[in-house]
Amino acid sequence: MLLCPVRDCHLPLNREGGRLVCARKHSFDVSSRGYVNLLQPQDRRSKQPGDTSDAVKARRRFHDLGVTTPLLGRIVEMVKASREDVVLDAGCGDGFYLGTLAREIGFDAHGVDISTAAIDAAARRYPGCEWIVANADRFIPYDDKSFSLILSITARMNAGEFRRVIRESGRLLVAIPAPQDFIELRGAGRDRVERTVETFAGDFKLEEQGRVTTSADLDAEAVRDVLHSIYRPMQAKAPEAMRVTLSLDLLLFRPA
Ligand SMILES: [Zn+2]
Repeated sequence: MLLCPVRDCHLPLNREGGRLVCARKHSFDVSSRGYVNLLQPQDRRSKQPGDTSDAVKARRRFHDLGVTTPLLGRIVEMVKASREDVVLDAGCGDGFYLGTLAREIGFDAHGVDISTAAIDAAARRYPGCEWIVANADRFIPYDDKSFSLILSITARMNAGEFRRVIRESGRLLVAIPAPQDFIELRGAGRDRVERTVETFAGDFKLEEQGRVTTSADLDAEAVRDVLHSIYRPMQAKAPEAMRVTLSLDLLLFRPA
């Protein structure tokens, strides 16, 4: 199901010992943690693309407080996943959403992120899923129609590639920050729903729309983690304990 990421190759990758190899002999090591790095030289615009190790740790500490669990709960309700699903999380970060759902539901789970630090953290905590370092903005390294469910949770979106790898009967769940998300830290954000639906027009049709909002009392350390991992600091202000709002717009699409 995995495809070679080399430009103009894209042949199936087969496991040979500790490596994945395509028929043209492009080869990729499977790391000792079990994940595979399929980043290509042109994907490495910076030495460490995507979230840094510090940002990944901060985000994981934040998830571990349990404050994002209500968000996950609403996502679960909306996608109605089952054991039979084959799920891609595109831009999975530290794997919290996909890994937690896979453990609860038992579906076949695949997570892709451009950050090696994020995938390493995901593979350590959720070894039952397949974790891939790749640039999903360019190419999702899976065969056509591989997935019955795709998750894109506050991540970058690639409508054309999502359409290619989703089954005709599949569904796509897109979660984007709602205007009230962390309003205490960043001020009111934009409503991104309309523009997001437009991004997917032609490839997907919107089936259901919802919004989940929760709040959490954070200590200064947790506020610092949010500023570090989710929103870049607006100003050099010392983080202090506060109650924050978390809010996501959830869009469930079907292939058009
Ligand atoms: Zn190849």
